[in-house]
Amino acid sequence: ATPTALMVGTGRGAQLGVLIKGPQVLESTRRIDTVVLDKTGTVTTGVMTVVDVSPAPGEDEQRLRRVAATLEDASEHPVARAIAGLADPGTVEDFRNHAGFGVSGVVDGLPARVGRPTWLGHDVEAGQAAGTTVTVELDGRLLGTITVADVVKETSAEAIASLRDLGLEPVLLTGDARGVAEEVAAAVDVTAVHAEVTPERKLEVVRELQGEGRVVAMVGDGINDAAALAAADLGIAMGTGTDVAMAASDLTLVGGDLRSAATAVRLARATLRTIK
Ligand code: ADP
Ligand code: MG
Repeated sequence: ATPTALMVGTGRGAQLGVLIKGPQVLESTRRIDTVVLDKTGTVTTGVMTVVDVSPAPGEDEQRLRRVAATLEDASEHPVARAIAGLADPGTVEDFRNHAGFGVSGVVDGLPARVGRPTWLGHDVEAGQAAGTTVTVELDGRLLGTITVADVVKETSAEAIASLRDLGLEPVLLTGDARGVAEEVAAAVDVTAVHAEVTPERKLEVVRELQGEGRVVAMVGDGINDAAALAAADLGIAMGTGTDVAMAASDLTLVGGDLRSAATAVRLARATLRTIK
């Protein structure tokens, strides 16, 4: 491969909205045959809104809102961004982020947590509203549930169809509940879905696909995707996502437009064809 042609390839990438970490990345881009897609913030907008607030029997709605907003004020997660707006936040001590599960801390002198219902061990019914339901706990007591939702990006279905036309098989991978995952997968015509996975499990899914002999690209935006992005043959970060995801990746899609992933594959194939 001539270095000049590869440099031209990376420069052309930048013009097309794809930042390439180095010329050598074009070779792995050309070889991928499977593309694993994170859901929240990658296939969907990641801009969530609260669609339901349900206090547990006998609990006060204002308290539920305030405890949840106080804890989520310190988190960057898309679920947190929506919940933080529910009330004026109070102060939190001993704040902790549990990637892929939720957040914890001490609010009003009491231990509090917001996160996946299964993480908190509360058996709650999913609310009437479609979306991601999280539970809010104070001093071991269930204060209630909050449901948030976002929408599939307008460009996602087209982007995934282009990737498939290039011969890549799409796989959806998410820490979110199965119902939401299946709904999003259907909207973008993807049949391979892994839901309710932990960040470690995201990494394992990438490794398992590689073990089947596939050359895997992972596309993601979150802290929870970083390990999988680094392990993939090609890590692709959304430019609209976290710095951690970009640092772990080989390519960054500047505007967070998934269609640029297909552009990158076409560019890599064209550049390397010129050279050979
Ligand atoms: P995804 O793979 O869709 O990007 P994550 O792995 O980041 O999702 O999160 C998985 C699940 O963990 C979320 O759907 C949510 O239920 C819960 N969760 C993660 N972070 C938070 C948070 N800050 N607050 C509440 N729940 C959270
Ligand atoms: Mg995400």
